[in-house]
Amino acid sequence: MRRIAVLTSGGDAPGMNAAIMAVAMAARHRGMELVGIKRGYDGALRKSARLEDDIINLDLDTILDIADQAGTFLRTARCPEFKDLPNQVRAANNLREMGIEGVVVIGGDGSYMGARALCRQGIPCIGIPGTIDNDLAYTEMTLGYDTASNSCMEDVRAIRATSRSHDRPHIVEVMGRHCGDLALRTAAASGAEICIVPEVPWSIQEVSDRLARQVDNGNPRATIVIAEGAWDSMAPYDWQKVLMENGVRCHADSVISTDYLAKVLKVKTKAEIRPTVCGYTQRGRTPTAYDRWFAFEAGTLAVKMLAHGLGNQVIGIKDGRVYYLPIDEALATKREFNLPLYEMINGISDH
Ligand code: ADP
Repeated sequence: MRRIAVLTSGGDAPGMNAAIMAVAMAARHRGMELVGIKRGYDGALRKSARLEDDIINLDLDTILDIADQAGTFLRTARCPEFKDLPNQVRAANNLREMGIEGVVVIGGDGSYMGARALCRQGIPCIGIPGTIDNDLAYTEMTLGYDTASNSCMEDVRAIRATSRSHDRPHIVEVMGRHCGDLALRTAAASGAEICIVPEVPWSIQEVSDRLARQVDNGNPRATIVIAEGAWDSMAPYDWQKVLMENGVRCHADSVISTDYLAKVLKVKTKAEIRPTVCGYTQRGRTPTAYDRWFAFEAGTLAVKMLAHGLGNQVIGIKDGRVYYLPIDEALATKREFNLPLYEMINGISDH
């Protein structure tokens, strides 16, 4: 291949820029031209009035200093219309017209489905798993997950300082969409007493009892780490009624949130529990050495694979080493939640 492209799609993740840079370095090394497609599949559909708003030449010299920055230099977007076949055909034709013979797609499982669609239209694609959620089963780690979990761990550390000073518990919400890995790793790394994830059913009553036990046993500063998707696995509970009966402002049609959960736990345990939602800071930290290492190896390997005419594959980590497998196999791999670690965190805290 003489001319290839790189795009980032879905949620941004720290390390995406490092991967773009690795792709640029490898392309130059192999004498290939590299173009950057802006805003994921939006750019491939060339929705902007000016071509340079969708496609840019990626010259290594101009992007050398981006590897240490979070986010994505190429921008990212969600492009729902790319799920439609006519738009996939249109994008593949656009790429062919520009002489692009292969694409490196950096994104999550949705982006991989887009990559598979492009492959079906004759454009070989290689996927790099860029997401802080760690929700791709075929790889031990996704790009950005290590940085995000370090960010959450640092947030919990800071919160525990005030928690200790006031002897009050805290509940900390982390991202991860429907995957509890970020919460689990954060809880394990920061010594949290309770971890709540979407993969394991839980109830407010049980968490309240456990928190009360912590306080009764002389630990009034326990930390609960909750995954943002954990509401999916919560047992039905009339928490609005509990709040209203105790004079806490709340509408009957309110949706449960970490703020409300903290209020309910406060009513039930009388502990002065405080909530914190880590929010988007998790996405914006400087990529860790691990993420930059993975970005470098994955970006370099992706270009090598395209140079050898390989497509329809994604890159991941297995037994600590970078490997690749077909997109279909990767997407079909079932996730295995680390239940023993979950039980260790939650079990130990009760003894
Ligand atoms: P992520 O890649 O982080 O999982 P999304 O699920 O939002 O993020 O997917 C990112 C983009 O991938 C979507 O906006 C769309 O352009 C493309 N995409 C998602 N699902 C499909 C699909 N089934 N077929 C083709 N493209 C898809």
